[in-house]
Parts: sequence; C-alpha cells; structure tokens
Amino acid sequence: MTQNANDFVLRGGTVVFPDRPPQPLDLLVEDGKIAALLRPGEPVAQGMPELPARDLHVFPGLIDAHVHFGLSGEKETQYATETRHAAHGGFTTLMGYFLNNEAYTDVFLREQKHARSRAHIDYAFHFSTANELHIKELQSYVTDYGVTSFKYFMNFKGEEGRYLGLDGTDDGYLHDLLKEAARIGKGEHRVTIVCHTENIEIVNRIRRRMQAEGRNTLKDWSASKPAFTEAESCVRAMYFAEHLGAQIYVPHLSTRMALDEVRRWRKRYPHVLVETCPHYLTHDENSTLGSLGKANPPFRSPDDVNALWEGLADGSIQVVGSDHAPRKRAGKDKGLWQASQGFPGIATILPVLLSEGYHKGRLSLERVCAVLTDGPARVFNLEPAKGRIAVGSDADLTLVDLDKVREVRWQELESYADYSLYDGWKLKGWPVRTIVRGVTVMRDGEVVGPQGHGRYLHRRLGEAPQHA
Ligand SMILES: [Zn+2]
Repeated sequence: MTQNANDFVLRGGTVVFPDRPPQPLDLLVEDGKIAALLRPGEPVAQGMPELPARDLHVFPGLIDAHVHFGLSGEKETQYATETRHAAHGGFTTLMGYFLNNEAYTDVFLREQKHARSRAHIDYAFHFSTANELHIKELQSYVTDYGVTSFKYFMNFKGEEGRYLGLDGTDDGYLHDLLKEAARIGKGEHRVTIVCHTENIEIVNRIRRRMQAEGRNTLKDWSASKPAFTEAESCVRAMYFAEHLGAQIYVPHLSTRMALDEVRRWRKRYPHVLVETCPHYLTHDENSTLGSLGKANPPFRSPDDVNALWEGLADGSIQVVGSDHAPRKRAGKDKGLWQASQGFPGIATILPVLLSEGYHKGRLSLERVCAVLTDGPARVFNLEPAKGRIAVGSDADLTLVDLDKVREVRWQELESYADYSLYDGWKLKGWPVRTIVRGVTVMRDGEVVGPQGHGRYLHRRLGEAPQHA
C-alpha cells in the first residue's frame, strides 16, 4: 500500500474502550482509517511518521448527538464557529436538530450548502417532525437524506405548537409518527423517535399561577415544570412505543422520577434510550445563576443530580449530549420568564465528565467513553464507522490529558455564544488533540484543521454511514 500524506502511527498512548479497561496500544492510521491496533512499540513500515501520545489517553472521537445551530444569529456561519468550538472539546462528530414546518427536502439542501464548505468536523442531522407532510415523507428522509432519527415535541401540543408556527400536534400525531417509524425500521435497524417529554397542559396552568404571584427564581422555574410532568410524559411515550413497536429516545432527561419509570418500563419493552446533559450533572435548582441558568428542562434538585450520576454509572443512561444552544448572553439577561432557554456546552462536556465524574470516583473511564462514543453511535446508526477504535473504523481520535487542569474561559472555546456556564471553573481532564479521519483539527487548544474538512454522514439502517 502506498503511503498517504496523512498516514501515521500513534505511539505510547493508552486506548480507552467503552466495555473494557483502558489498554496501552499503538494505532496505525492509513487513509483516514484505523488500519491496526498494535502492541506498544510493534514495528510498522519504514518511514511511517510517528505521532507521540505518551501520558495521554486515546478515546474514540467524541460524538455530540444533541446540538442546535442558528437559534439566534446567522445559522450559516455557525457551522464554522460551533464545529470549531466542538473541536476544542475533542468532538469529531456533531448531530444537529432542525425544527421546521416546511418539507425537509428544501431544508436539507439549504443547510447542506451552508455546512459543507464550513464544518471542521463530521456532522449529521435530526429532523423535527411537526406536520402531516413530515410523516408522509418520513421514508424518503431515511432513504434519500440519510436521516434515521426524528424529534417530536410532546410539549408543542395544539395552541402551544401553533404559537411557534407549527401545525399544532397531539397524541394522535405521535401515534401515527411512531407507527410509521416502526414500519420503516425493524429489528436491529431502527428509526428512532426522539421524544421531548413534558406534559405542557399541566405546566401551563402552574406557570400562569406563578407568573401572577411574581415568582422568578430558578427554583420557581423548576417548580413550574415539576418532575411529574416529565415522568408522566415519559410513561405515555413508552406506552405508545411499546404498543406500536417503535424505538424512542428521551433527550435531556432531568429527574430521578422519570429515570425510575424508564428503568421499570425497560423490563417489559427494551427500545427506550435515554440521554442526559452535562448541566443536569453540575447544577441544581439552588443555583444563583438566575436567568442565565434557564433551560428546559430546568435545573433540578440535588437528589436528581445524584440520580443522573447513578444512571450514567449503572448504564440506565446511554448518552450524554450537550443540548448546545449558541446564543448571546444578552438574550439571557432578562427576567426569568422572558429569558431565552439553554446555553452553549459542547466543548466542556468531556472536562465536566472527567473532573466531576471520573476524578471524583463517580464514573469509570469506560462509562465516560461509552456515553460519548459507542452509546450515541449505536443509537443513531453511526456504527461501525464512528464511535469505536477498531480496524476499519474512521480514524477519529481524541487525545486526552487526564491530569491537565484548565480554567474555563468562553473566549478560548470559540463558540458564537459569549459565555459559558463554567466560566471560572477549574476542570481537570482536557482533550489536547482532535483527529478527524486521520487529520488533526485541534492541537493544544488551537484549531488547526481547515474549514470544510467535516463531511455529512448519510446514515443507513443497518449499514455504516456514507460520507457525502
Ligand atoms: Zn435541544
């Protein structure tokens, strides 16, 4: 085989796996793929460049399955800024959510045009379903556009949905959506419906009362959406999914009550997957961040925080995603009820899990690896190209210094957003190099890879995704 300019052998690192202890191994990278896992020091072809990884842990390239682009500001340029931000955090693949009332045929072509020339790392899309056309075209979205996961907002019901310019859906719509998803994907090769679980009818009544009483703290925000409204909606989604044979995924799960319901339900129906977000692991409703800390779901109780760490450790939670919302701080510096929801968060996920999880004895490296690589890759049909260090997989690698202590400064993380929840936090455990298909895109806190290196991942049910 002739040597490619980007071929190399990675020497001296400790490779992290999702299902077994870390192991000292060298890796041979050829043509953007992993060509061999080698015993430390094992010889390779003469002249093969060596990349040193001594004292570093080598993770499969990290995947953030929950990202939003363009919630405010220009969406086009955010394919550049937010993928740079992600590269800083060791991420090699992002999955972005779209929410539209138009046909995704048009949305897809438009977004691809913006993303293709700008992305620094690989990317895929989830489509949010909001009208009848989306169900009718679901099969074509899977086959023609390589999208195998679809978001459904159980909280955009009726008038709430129409207020947002959507059709205004209901349980009947969810029923038909799950039925169609189950028809398209079967057995091991499923279409996944991502259900935002929230009983908005109850929330609306509590919210009106609270606003009338002038309550405006983060604790009030949480009390306006009690755990019961997440858990009940979760149970309803699971009941529907089981009845219709569909696979569902609960994003940003935030409460012990909902997690316990999932654990119970899985005994009768296994196709229920769960994600939580880093901020639910580090912040609770007693936070003094005010409207800056507004998110949906809200920060919860300290007991809920503990429950989520337990869920990550025992495998009840399969994925950690950021729910990254790149917005300016100005949109947050308003009264609680007016402030925008969400915050940036891709680049700090790994340091948070290492610093607050691994270094505090709450999470093994295997579990950190699983929820950021193998977990999302399995759920979202990115395997075997992504999410693992194995022969034939893409050479997406995240080199991590577990002992590096660094203070978070949003300016260094290059998002469109001008703040981080973790500004001033000293976190221990940082990525020092991000490699996408054999090419280094971030080195020692500097993005060095070219815009447009990132490729779209056209996902296929039961097969490796195609680069397009
Ligand atoms: Zn989200």
